[in-house]
Amino acid sequence: MERDVIVREVGPRDGLQLVATVLPTATKLAWIRAEAAAGVSEIEVCSFVPPKVVPQFGDAKDVAAGALAIPNILVTALVPNIKGAELGFAAGVHKLNYVLSVSQTHNQKNVRRTREQSLADLAEIVRLRNSEPRYENVLIGCGLSTSFGCSLEGHVPARETLSVMEQVLALGVDEITLADTVGYGAPGQVREIFKAALQLAGGLPLVAHFHDTRGLGLANAHAALEEGCRRFDASLAGLGGCPFAPGATGNIVTEDLIFLLEAEGLKTGIDLPALGEVRAIVEQALPGEAMHGTILKAGLPKGFVAATPRLAAE
Ligand code: ZN
Repeated sequence: MERDVIVREVGPRDGLQLVATVLPTATKLAWIRAEAAAGVSEIEVCSFVPPKVVPQFGDAKDVAAGALAIPNILVTALVPNIKGAELGFAAGVHKLNYVLSVSQTHNQKNVRRTREQSLADLAEIVRLRNSEPRYENVLIGCGLSTSFGCSLEGHVPARETLSVMEQVLALGVDEITLADTVGYGAPGQVREIFKAALQLAGGLPLVAHFHDTRGLGLANAHAALEEGCRRFDASLAGLGGCPFAPGATGNIVTEDLIFLLEAEGLKTGIDLPALGEVRAIVEQALPGEAMHGTILKAGLPKGFVAATPRLAAE
C-alpha cells in the first residue's frame, strides 16, 4: 500500500488510559482488528506499566499477543522504563515507544525520576536491543512528552525540546515523537519546532502527537504537515489523556485527521467509512464516554474523492 502519510492509531493506549471502564481483552482486539481492516498500518496497542498504576493495561501481554496475530499492522507498545521495555521485548512487539518528558516536573510525576535518569534508562534499553540477537529487529521509538508546554511548569522553551531531542537522537533510537501532551501548542510554535526538529532528525522518522485539549489539535497537525511532517498519532473518537497531567484530554480525532489529510490530496491508505464501523464497536463498549469528531457525524462532502490533488479534481 502506497501512503503519503502514516497515521498511527494510539486509541487503545493513549485513548484508554483515562477511561474508567476496563475494556475486556477481546473488545480491545476487536477494535484493533477493525482498524487494521480499515487500513491503519500501525497501532499502539497497550502500555507495559504496573496494573496497579493503570488497571486498564493489566492485559497488555495478551493484547500484544492478539495484535501480533493480525496481519499487516506494526504493533507498538508504550514503555515508561526498563522493566516495561523488558516486558515489551518478551511480548515480541514490533516497536517499543519509550516515553520521557521535556519538562522535569512532568517526568517526575509521570515516570518518577529525573529526565537524566530517563535518558540513562533509554540508553540501557537500546543497549539491550543491540546486544540480544533475538531483539535485533525490534524498533525503539522515543516520545518526548510536554514538547510544546507543560501544565505543571507552563512554558517549555523550544530550545529545551530540541536539546532533549538531540540527546535522544544520540542514543540511537529509530524514531522520535514530539508530543503536545496537554494541548498547549499553537500552530506558529509547532511550525518553528518542527522545522528545526525535521532538520535535526535528518530523515529519521519524526512523529507529531497532538492533543486537542484547547481546540488547536488539527491546526497544529496542519502546521506540522506544512513543515514536512508525514507521521501523525491520533485516537479514534478523540479518546485519551494523560493521568499525570492535570486537565489533559483526548488526542486529535483519527477520523477527522484522515479527512484533513485526504482533503489535502495525501493518501493515508485508511478508509473513512470503515472507521465509522470501528467507532460503533468502541461506542458500544464504552457507554457514556464522550466520542469526539465531526466528519463521520456530518458525513463527507458531496462528491468527495479521497486524496485527489485539487487541480486534478477540477
Ligand atoms: Zn498523548
